[in-house]
Amino acid sequence: METITAHPRTWTPEQSPAAKRDVWTALKRGFRCRCPRCGEGKLFRAFLKVDDHCSACGLDFTPHRADDLPAYLVIVIVGHIVVPTILWIETDYAPSVLLQLSIYLPLTLILSLLMLQPVKGAVVGLQWALRMHGFDENAPDEISPG
Ligand SMILES: [Zn+2]
Repeated sequence: METITAHPRTWTPEQSPAAKRDVWTALKRGFRCRCPRCGEGKLFRAFLKVDDHCSACGLDFTPHRADDLPAYLVIVIVGHIVVPTILWIETDYAPSVLLQLSIYLPLTLILSLLMLQPVKGAVVGLQWALRMHGFDENAPDEISPG
C-alpha cells in the first residue's frame, strides 16, 4: 500500500482565490449605467463612450470589450416587444399601413436608443463580474489587452 504525504504549502497572495464578484449585482449596476464594482460612479462619459475609470472607486473600465453585443441584444429585446405588438394590432384592428408605419418606426427607433446605453452598461458589468478580458487582475501578461 502506498502512502500519500501532503507537502506543506505556504500561502501567498498570488495563490489566494480571487474575490467573488456577483454577476446579478454587476448586471444591475451596469444597467443603471453605474460602476459594476461600487455602484456609485458613472460608467459612461458620453452616450455610448465608456469612461476610463470609475470616479468613485477608481476601477479601470478600459479593459471592457463590449463591441457589437449591446446592439445585437437591443435588436433581440426591441424585436420581442415590437413584433408581437404589431402582430396583435394587425390581427385585431388592422389599421392602415401608413398609420402603422408612423407609429412602429419611431417606436422602434426610440426604444432602441433608450435601451442601448443600459444594455451596454450591463454587458460591461457582466464582463467585469466574469473577469473577462483585462478585468482579471491575476491574468497572465500574455492574455491581458495591450
Ligand atoms: Zn466604482
